[in-house]
Amino acid sequence: MGMKRNRRSAVFLDRDGTIAYYREYCCRPEEFRLLPGVGRAIRRLNEAGLAVVVVTNQSAIGRGWLTRQTLAQIHRKMRRALRRAVARVDAIYVCPHPPTEGCLCRKPGIGMLLQASRELGVSLRHSYTVGDRRLDVLTGRTAGTRTVLVRTGHRPEPLNGTAPDCEAATLQKAVTWILKQEASRLGGRGRPLDPSTRTTAFGRGLARDSAPSLGQRPRESRRGTPSESEGRAKRKIPRAPRPAECASRGGLPVGLHQRGRTL
Ligand SMILES: [Mg+2]
Ligand SMILES: [Zn+2]
Repeated sequence: MGMKRNRRSAVFLDRDGTIAYYREYCCRPEEFRLLPGVGRAIRRLNEAGLAVVVVTNQSAIGRGWLTRQTLAQIHRKMRRALRRAVARVDAIYVCPHPPTEGCLCRKPGIGMLLQASRELGVSLRHSYTVGDRRLDVLTGRTAGTRTVLVRTGHRPEPLNGTAPDCEAATLQKAVTWILKQEASRLGGRGRPLDPSTRTTAFGRGLARDSAPSLGQRPRESRRGTPSESEGRAKRKIPRAPRPAECASRGGLPVGLHQRGRTL
C-alpha cells in the first residue's frame, strides 16, 4: 500500500443537517435521527464504490456537554439505522474542539479531509463534500473537492462568494448529481467537468423529501424534465470495486477517528 494509491473518490458528508435532522448540538442518542431517504442515498454511493466519510464538528465535546462515550452511542445508532437500509459509512472523523482552540480539524479547516485522504487512500481532487452550511462548502473547496450544498438543515446563509458546485434539495438529489459526475469522469462520456459549472439539482419531490426548515426554492428550479445528460448517467453508472480495507492505523493527529466497520 504505497502512498501513491490515492485513487479512490470519497464523498465527505457533514452529519447534522445533512444526514441527520439539524440540531445545533446533538448530545443524546434520542436526539439523533436520520433524515428521510438518507439510507438509500448512502447505499447508492456504496454500490458505486465511493468511500463514504462522515466529517463532523462536535464542539459539544470540548465544551463539556457531550462525552466521547455518548458520541460513540450516537454513532452506533447512526450505523444501525444505515444498516437497516443496507448502507454503511466507511469512516467517521470528528473534531471535538471548541472554536477557541484554533485546531486544524474544525471545519472550515481541512484537517479531517486531509487525514481521511491519507488514511483511506482518497484523491481529494476526485472527491465531493456535501453539507448544509456555507462552512461545509468552504471546507470542501479549500480541500480541492467538488461541493454540494443541501437544503435539509440549517436555514439558508449568505454564501458570500462561496458558491457550491451544486445545490440540492436533499442528499438523494446530491447523490444523483455526484454519480452523474462520476459517470462522465470514469465513463469518458461527455466533456470533462468544468469545475466552475454550477448545477441546481432541485426538482420534483422537494416538499416530500425535505426537512421543514427548507429555505426558499431556487429560481432555476427545473421541474420534471430530466436533461439528456441525466438519462445518459442513468444508463451507465460504472461500478467501481468496493472500497478496500484501509490498513494503516497510526496515531490520531487530528480529531477522533472512528473506523468504519465492514458489514
Ligand atoms: Mg451541518
Ligand atoms: Zn479540531
